[in-house]
Amino acid sequence: MPYSTQFLLSAVAAEQFPAPTVPEIAFLGRSNVGKSSLLNALVGDKAAKVSSTPGRTRAINFFSLVDPSQKPKMVFADLPGYGYAKISKSISAGWPTFIEPYLAGRATLRLCVCLVDSNIPPQPSDRQLIDWLRAAGRSFAVVATKVDRLSGNVRTKNLHAIKKAFELDEILAVSAKTKHGIGELWRRIESA
Ligand code: GDP
Repeated sequence: MPYSTQFLLSAVAAEQFPAPTVPEIAFLGRSNVGKSSLLNALVGDKAAKVSSTPGRTRAINFFSLVDPSQKPKMVFADLPGYGYAKISKSISAGWPTFIEPYLAGRATLRLCVCLVDSNIPPQPSDRQLIDWLRAAGRSFAVVATKVDRLSGNVRTKNLHAIKKAFELDEILAVSAKTKHGIGELWRRIESA
C-alpha cells in the first residue's frame, strides 16, 4: 500500500463534510459486519481506532490517503453501521439523517464498498441498501467478510446465496484475519 492514512474529521451534518476534492470511497455495512477489521487490513489501525471512539460511531469518519510526497490521493469515508433499527421504507431508518443525502449527493464519491457477513443468510437491511444504491445510480461493490470462518463448500454455497438474493454479478470474498481478498479489493478501489 503506497499510502499513509490521516484522519480528517468526523461529520454529523452535511455542513461538516470535507470539501469534495479527491476521489472518495465509502464503506458501509451492518454493525459487527467486520468493517473496522477490514479498514484495519486496508489502511492500518488508525482508521479503525478513530471510528470506534465513543461519539464517533454515529458519524461519518473521513480519512485522507496520502502518497509519499504527502499529496492526498483519495478519501475513505467510514459510515455508521446500520441494521439494529427496524426496517422501514427508508434505508436511513435508524441511521442519522445526513447519511442518505451523503450517498445521494456526494460529488466525489466513486465507489460504495458494501460489506455483508458471509457467515449469515442474506439480510433484508443489506438488500435494502443495495436496492437504494441501484436506484440512486451509485457504483458499488459487495464484499463478503469473514470468509476464513467457512470451509470451501460452505463458502461457495453462502457466496452463491448472497449473490442470488441481492442479484449480483460479482461478489468479493475477503478475510481481515487471513488477508484473503485484500489485494483484490485494493485493485477494485484503485480502478474506481
Ligand atoms: P464492525 O462493527 O463492522 O466494525 O466489526 P468489527 O471489525 O469490530 O468486527 C466484529 C467482530 O467480527 C469482531 O469480533 C472481529 O474480531 C470479528 N471479525 C472481523 N473480521 C473478521 C475476519 O475477517 N475473520 C474473523 N474470523 N473474524 C472477524
